[in-house]
Order: sequence, then structure tokens, then C-alpha cells
Amino acid sequence: MSLRSFLKQMKKQKQVLNIKDELSTRFEIPFVMKKFDSQGLILVFEKVKGYKTKIVANVCGTRERLCAALNVSKDELYRKLLEAWRSPEKPKIVGDGKVKAVKEKDLSRIPILTHFENDAGPYITSAVVYAKSNDGKVENVSVHRLQVLDEKHLAIRLVPRHLFKLWQTAKEEGKDLDVSISIGVHPAVLLAASSPVPFGVNEFEIANTLMDGELCLIKCENVDAYAPADAELVLEGRISTTEEVVEGPFVDITGTYDIERKQPVVEILGVMHRENYLYQALLPSGAEHRLLMGLPREALIWEAVSKVVPKVHAVNLSAGGSGWLHAILSIEKQLDGDGKNALLAAFAAHPSLKHAVVVDVDIDVFNPSDVEWAIATRFQANEDLIIIENARGSTLDSSADQETGLTTKMGLDATMPLTKPKEKFEKAKIPASKNVETYLYRGSEK
Ligand code: MN
Repeated sequence: MSLRSFLKQMKKQKQVLNIKDELSTRFEIPFVMKKFDSQGLILVFEKVKGYKTKIVANVCGTRERLCAALNVSKDELYRKLLEAWRSPEKPKIVGDGKVKAVKEKDLSRIPILTHFENDAGPYITSAVVYAKSNDGKVENVSVHRLQVLDEKHLAIRLVPRHLFKLWQTAKEEGKDLDVSISIGVHPAVLLAASSPVPFGVNEFEIANTLMDGELCLIKCENVDAYAPADAELVLEGRISTTEEVVEGPFVDITGTYDIERKQPVVEILGVMHRENYLYQALLPSGAEHRLLMGLPREALIWEAVSKVVPKVHAVNLSAGGSGWLHAILSIEKQLDGDGKNALLAAFAAHPSLKHAVVVDVDIDVFNPSDVEWAIATRFQANEDLIIIENARGSTLDSSADQETGLTTKMGLDATMPLTKPKEKFEKAKIPASKNVETYLYRGSEK
């Protein structure tokens, strides 16, 4: 299982759009990616100005495709993710892999994109970064953005999470940190690397479980690190613990610019790729970015809310909320008050969550008009609204207090009140006669 095999499968399902015009890595390809973002197709840019390599984009751009990649139905998706997080399995280490086919001297022949107007420069955005502690006890895999500084150096954004912790420990030990940077991997690897598993869990092992034991790793040649044997492209690098540069500005998940910060430099010690490799691009703030970050959090919300109400039907970290700040959940409730408990559980499960709406199961959480209709007809602000002031929110929210990160959270219980007659709230239906069904059936044949 590789990105290649997945693309072949998706091509058969007519999910791939080939773009044959020659386009530039600077703004032109990102512009087209953004234009097509809501359509959900995988894009293959066949002619990249100044480069021989083709670019593939939006591989993980729809829920349906992520389900296909994990070979699971929509209903089973969260369960499969949650189970994999709890049952990591060591991948096979193999001597040779397709990614070892071609070696390059530096980054200069890789078609790295410059995305938005005020971005600091070209950025790698689909990078799966592996590192381990010097004593070998902790291995970690996570996704990071990497700014191109020159043909041998990148700046890496280290959010204070697991890789940052490994880097800090290396710094205390007076050593630099070896990493492999894999680009062009199976969606299961990207999803695993985006999963909120505890420090100490190797996300490659989660990917291997998601891939039913089919992930194979190679040992890098120039650094002490492992990488997927059939990745499209692997960079071998060393994160400096002494040298930092200004990183950014760069667009993050909300589609606004993230600020400049001092971040560490990565020195590139090796570049290897498959024959005719594909460079995997990912549009910051695009559907793929939102899904890869949001889906694992939806699973956490689903699990937490399932503990306080009889049944959670669906969860959507919505596109308008950048796949991160807004949740809509549909539940089966037993008693009035279940809606509010569901909201509280959702806020606890995903601390970055800012606004949440809970609806009944007859509302489609993926249809914004349907959700708005529920708010219009089933919600009373003086009874069904909860506001939590001065809570810890997301640093990505431009309206949160920029110094303290404090924000106000809001939950809307837009479920039907059980104390009032149901008929007042239910959607009216039109009976479908045999005649109408026959007519509609014939219509669909044309
Ligand atoms: Mn981790």
C-alpha cells in the first residue's frame, strides 16, 4: 500500500483530474488547487514549469476518500481510528525500498510551491517527519511545514508538542536531531501522523495498524531515522539545536497568516526518491488540511460525547469553522439536558473548539442550511445557549486574546425539547406514491 497504489484505485473511480497545461510552482498551481478545492478531486499537474516532476494534490480531500484509504465505511471510521490508536503494531523494516531508486544532491530539483501572496517563500506542506530520542526509547512521527531557505536548508515549524519535546531534549544533551522527511505517502500514514496519540507512541505503528500490517520502513543512509519504503520522496535531515531563523509568515488552517517566529534550521544530508516520483502538495487551509487535522478530533469528540448521551449519530468539524473551531453534532437524546451535556463533553474532548451546535438525528450535520434550520426552529437563546468566558482556546483564532490565548466558547442546543409536542418540530413530509416513484425512476434513467 502506497500513494501510488491508492492513486491507481482512485483513478478507476474517476477521482483524479489531470491538468495538462504548463503551470508555475509560484502561485499558479496553488491558485488552481484553491479553485478546485471544493470539488474534492485529486489533481495531477503534469507539466510544471522549470521542473521534470509531476505534482499531485488534494489526495486526502474528501471524507469518502479517507474512508476508502482505510477500507472502512463512514459509520465505522471513528471506531477504526480509535482502535488503531490503542493498538500500535511495529512495521517491518526492509533492506531496500522503491524510494531508494534515485539520489539527488539537494532540494533544487523538487517543485516546491509558493502558495499565498505574503508567504515567506516556498514551503513543503505534506511532510511526515520522523525522529527518535537519542536513547532510542521514544519514536515520533508528525506533520510539519517546512520553509525553503536554500537548496540545502529548511526552517521547520515546531509547535510545542512531541517533536518539539524531542528537539528540546537533544538540545539539553548538546546534540542535533536526525529526522527523515517523507513526502508522498499513503493517506493512512498522513492520518496516523496527524493523530493525537500520547508522547511515546510511534505514529508509524499506528499507520501500520490502519494499513493492516502492510507498512514497510527503510533505514535512512545519512541519518539515524526510518521512513516508508515506498514513499515518493524522502529527505534526510538534521534539525539544528543551535541555529534558528525567522520562519513565516505563512497561511495556516483558518486561511489567515500565521506570524513570524524564530524556528530551527534543518540541514539536508540526503535526498532520495522513486523513479518518476510524484511531489505531493497540500494547500494550507484547503479541504485536505482541514480533514487531516479535523478528522482525528472528530473521533475524540464522538467518543467523549458517546459516554454522556445514548447515541452520537454524526460529528462534523465544519469547513466554515476551518475544520478546527466549529463542531456540529447530531445525537439521540433521552432527556432534556442531554444536549447541553453533549456540548460540554465536546468542549472537553477538543480544547481548541470554540462554537458547537448539537442537533437531532433528523438534521444533516454536513448541510449548513439544515443546521441553520434547526437553530431557527428548535433553539431559544435564553434557554438553550451556554457561554463559557475566559476559556483556553486555539491560537489559530484571530479573535482570541493574542497574549493569553483566552477565548469565549459558545454552545447551542438546537435539539427538539422533549416536553413540547414533537409534531411542532418535525419536518413535514410529502407521501411518495407508486406513480411518483415510477416517474422519478424513469427520470434517473435518462
Ligand atoms: Mn506523537
